[in-house]
Amino acid sequence: MTQLNNQTQAQALNPPPRLLMGPGPINADPRVLRAMSAQLIGQYDPAMTGYMNETMARYRKVFKTDNQWTFLIDGTSRAGIEAVLVSAIRPGDAVLVPIFGRFGHLLAEIAQRAGAEVHTIEAPWGEVFTPEQIEEAIKKVQPKMLAIVQGDTSTTMCQPLEHLGDICRRHDVLFYSDATASIVGNEFKTDEWQLDAVSVGLQKCLGGPSGSAPVTLSERYVNWVRKRKKVEAGIRTEGHKDGSEPFIRSNYFDIPMILDYWGEERLNHHTEATTMLYGASECARIVIEEGVDASIARHALHGSAMVQGVQALGLKVFGNLEYKMNNVLGVYIPDEVEGDKVRGQMLEDFGIEIGTSFGPLHGKIWRIGTMGYNARKSAVLQTLSCLDACLAANGYKGPKGEAAAAALEFYAHG
Ligand SMILES: *Cc1c(COP(=O)(O)O)cnc(C)c1O
Repeated sequence: MTQLNNQTQAQALNPPPRLLMGPGPINADPRVLRAMSAQLIGQYDPAMTGYMNETMARYRKVFKTDNQWTFLIDGTSRAGIEAVLVSAIRPGDAVLVPIFGRFGHLLAEIAQRAGAEVHTIEAPWGEVFTPEQIEEAIKKVQPKMLAIVQGDTSTTMCQPLEHLGDICRRHDVLFYSDATASIVGNEFKTDEWQLDAVSVGLQKCLGGPSGSAPVTLSERYVNWVRKRKKVEAGIRTEGHKDGSEPFIRSNYFDIPMILDYWGEERLNHHTEATTMLYGASECARIVIEEGVDASIARHALHGSAMVQGVQALGLKVFGNLEYKMNNVLGVYIPDEVEGDKVRGQMLEDFGIEIGTSFGPLHGKIWRIGTMGYNARKSAVLQTLSCLDACLAANGYKGPKGEAAAAALEFYAHG
């Protein structure tokens, strides 16, 4: 075990200045950090319950929904995923998970841990599914729920969702999407697309720190989970035996209990993570101030400028560009350079972080994000200039000195 000496122990936290241009997390908007430094108030202080209601109203705008049940699950994005899945799935329920990247595997794993009989279909990395492929699988599996990622940062692909709601209604399937990486950076319409449950996180296009998971739930979803028997404190029933539904196998993520806490009843469940609520609420306020559609357009603009820049360096962009998320791009690492050395120099000499990749793409592509607070011209130009210089310093044989110029040209003339 290493012992810290007294001097190290006494040092204040002082993280190095960084520009985070990977697939998330990104730098938080300074306004969010300021909101998070506000003093705590009591759990049932009318000011606090007022903030809770205000947060719900703000996230209805972010999600483009009239769903009453739009609120925060405490925890990182996967807390939202887990709450949605564990509250809805009874042991043995069939769940269909179409997988087109790493986060699809995560949904499948969480559904399985919740006791689901998980069925998956897979698209090649860099591609998405057609509605027909998904409907065909639904017909075969007849699932209780369809669980699908919208934007998967591991492949940079954005799955079109607009035709899936109809299919789910026709086959009486609950429709859930993890839109953590895509919300407010790409179009998302909860009500128009007939989603029953959506969960997100703050650390991508919403421009906050990770640690809060906004969710929105349709009446259809809420009616379903409320039907499931709640465990009385201390009583462990085995479900089924008395003809009731088996209970929800999590206290922390028991959505009916959480609804009683966020609703009029204000029944105590957990202690709301007040500081995270301040941050989450401010993230939504900032997006509403800008306009949800303006935020999406900003991500499209700066994402495209980044693509122009890397292409001017002769680099190839990964995946089917027709379905690329606005806010992240994958770029092939040229053969003659060592990917980790370039990334390392970008971080060390310039303080700029870009992302590596997982699974089949490991060592093959870098991932560069333009999201939230960092979806702006200066961040794009700094990153491109830095990449340009570090490629040149690491033996890259392609074009040099072109990246920022190409992006500037794009900003000027489109
Ligand atoms: C980034 C991301 C997450 C992150 O989950 P955390 O629990 O916050 O780490 C989840 N889902 C998707 C699709 C993501 O892109």
